[in-house]
Amino acid sequence: IYKRSSQLFAEAEKVIPGGVNSPVRAFKAVGGTPIFVKSAKGAYLYDEDGNKLIDYINSWGPMVLGHAYQPVVDVVIEKAKLGTSFGMPTELETQIAALAVAMVPNIDKIRFVNSGTEACMSAIRLARGFTKRDKIIKFAGCYHGHSDSFLIQAGSGAVTFGSPNSPGVTEGTAKDTLLAKYNDLENVKTLIEANKNEIAAIIIEPVAGNMGCIPPQKGFLQGLRDLCTANGILLIFDEVMTGFRLARGGVQELYNIKADIVTFGKVIGGGLPVGAFAAREEIMNYLAPLGPVYQAGTLSGNPLAMAAGLAMLQSLDNDRAVFTRLEEKTAYLEAGIDKVLKANKVVFTINRVGSMISVHFDASPVTDFQSAAKGDNETFKKFFHGLLQEGIYIAPSAYETWFITDALTYEDLDFTIKVIDKVSKTF
Ligand code: PLP
Repeated sequence: IYKRSSQLFAEAEKVIPGGVNSPVRAFKAVGGTPIFVKSAKGAYLYDEDGNKLIDYINSWGPMVLGHAYQPVVDVVIEKAKLGTSFGMPTELETQIAALAVAMVPNIDKIRFVNSGTEACMSAIRLARGFTKRDKIIKFAGCYHGHSDSFLIQAGSGAVTFGSPNSPGVTEGTAKDTLLAKYNDLENVKTLIEANKNEIAAIIIEPVAGNMGCIPPQKGFLQGLRDLCTANGILLIFDEVMTGFRLARGGVQELYNIKADIVTFGKVIGGGLPVGAFAAREEIMNYLAPLGPVYQAGTLSGNPLAMAAGLAMLQSLDNDRAVFTRLEEKTAYLEAGIDKVLKANKVVFTINRVGSMISVHFDASPVTDFQSAAKGDNETFKKFFHGLLQEGIYIAPSAYETWFITDALTYEDLDFTIKVIDKVSKTF
């Protein structure tokens, strides 16, 4: 059924190393042809082979209100026609900044870049400058973008840059990155003890979404907060995935924990490339005298992207019930999957926080990178392909999170549960 996609993939491989962009990397885990998509609307993808698919990948998270969301489409068309100048100040950037600052707790100022990767890079650089320290603690399986500046082990099963000797990693950057185990506070304490007064920041996905959906265990985030405060370390919440998705104010609001720096991407761009980093005034003002070239590039804050992001945030801000609806829909799906898999005597774990969910075919609780790995197995492959055959496109690895969009109907969810029942009977 994927004849056209196969052809397109073969053509792509000739001119793009590794074929096309995501989700090819993830697709390799399950086998099969990456599906080429022609258009997307609401909760559905329409592929090049003429299939309609219920989409749980959601462009990896940004389209919380669905694909081709009309208010965003309208402003992008309007701005494109106006031919607004890139690189010149527009009022739009101030408007989206003011709205983001109003929606998210504990931030006074925000700066826009082009991606989540850049946002995290900028946050790390800011933390190093502000603290006059170099080292960073990150967690195995947490992904903060494709920059080599602090990545040792990324999410999604990929050990992107394995050691300081790997190609692409400069000695200084990898040497200064300390790798901790997610949900393991003792591990973090030991690293801090061994590097007294040297650690600038701890960066974390406060709800992890790049090794499946992994919630922070009770007390973990507060424990990190306390350790950071006691040791002069800045706590960076990478909310590229969770921001404007799990709650209006993100994970800080959801669990009532204060971060020092927060990064954004995905939803904040309404589907266009936008990243941002934010903090309280005292920290952000460190940037003010440095001048713009140290903080942004040619396209940062460009009017098309700002208009899309602003329309998105305004929609979320105006519809106060949206996060409750997302939570209810996802909880409904979770309960349905749980019921049919149990009835079919399947060994599994489901993790969910708000509108992020992942299914792992292993009995042990999925609390970190290692435990997530066990659920990414042959059963998962059968599950993935079984669903795809019935027109349901989930993330192609147990290391990936499914993102629920408000555009999904209860009929879509019921259909999905029915298909999962059918497919899991064949395990
Ligand atoms: N941080 C997190 C938590 C992410 O999930 C991602 C992307 O998936 C990034 C950073 C990188 O963002 P981008 O892909 O926009 O560069």
